[in-house]
Amino acid sequence: MRARWMLILGFLFAATGVLLWWRHPSGTPHLGQAAYEQTATILAHGPRPPGSDGLKAVSAHVQKELETAGWVTSRQTFERYTPEGSVTFQNLLARFPTSGVDPWNRPVRTILCAHLDSKGFKDSRFLGADDAASACAAIVEIAKFLAKEKPALAETLELVFFDGEEAIGPHITAADGLYGSRYYANAWRAKSDKPTSGILLDMIGHENLTIRLSTDTPDALKERVFAAAKAEDAQNHFGMASGPIIDDHVPLNSAGIPTVDLIGDFAASAWWHRPTDTLKILSARSLDISIRVTLRLLDDAFAPPTSAPAAPNRPRQ
Ligand SMILES: [Zn+2]
Repeated sequence: MRARWMLILGFLFAATGVLLWWRHPSGTPHLGQAAYEQTATILAHGPRPPGSDGLKAVSAHVQKELETAGWVTSRQTFERYTPEGSVTFQNLLARFPTSGVDPWNRPVRTILCAHLDSKGFKDSRFLGADDAASACAAIVEIAKFLAKEKPALAETLELVFFDGEEAIGPHITAADGLYGSRYYANAWRAKSDKPTSGILLDMIGHENLTIRLSTDTPDALKERVFAAAKAEDAQNHFGMASGPIIDDHVPLNSAGIPTVDLIGDFAASAWWHRPTDTLKILSARSLDISIRVTLRLLDDAFAPPTSAPAAPNRPRQ
């Protein structure tokens, strides 16, 4: 009788092990549901165009989330003339402190970034759930996870939440849009201890996840992204775009920080820059995939690529 119970218990243990292995095949944590809920919290503040109360409230919320998790934050505030006059922009930065060292006075290896602003529309209420609240939510949840589970990795990062990625006018031009990333990249340009790589997230939570890398992606980063996607069994969600994409990675690449843009296929979508870009088009599963690939990229020895990025020639619009 006793042997029979031992057998049943043994079977239950084995079954639990198989179940856990099946749910976590790669060992990479599953943060998709947390990021989905974080996106909902961000969206509850309403539209987030530059200078708006909504953006200020969301930025304060993200700052509080990061600081509660043990990160230290800093802001870059600057004014720019836009098609609608002078606007004050604010990038939010975060680093993970090492004891006894000023976190802002030591080199970091990788920049992990996304844009916190949403495009302003006068005739409709645009929330930008995937463009790019979901990406910011993913970074917040990654930051919370790393602070708790991988503080040594957290110390190698700088997190950046850009303001003013979206153009104030209808389309991104050389002078309108990428305000935050242009300012941020310029601050690095002349420095000798630049980060060796950057990961930009944008539109990474759509239920039909189709990440398309810009053709200006530095070759070494391209290979690493596809290898990470394969390792997470997510390669069918990743591919190349048909041309260069204008996004916040462009100023970073131009400042000498090789950066990849993990970006959803906005050009082929019916929701991009439309009021339908709400929580309804997102899924926790897609966020989970994007976050797992990002974590794997951060985990890898993220060596600097050898090839220089090509100049972009196709606007994002
Ligand atoms: Zn946009």
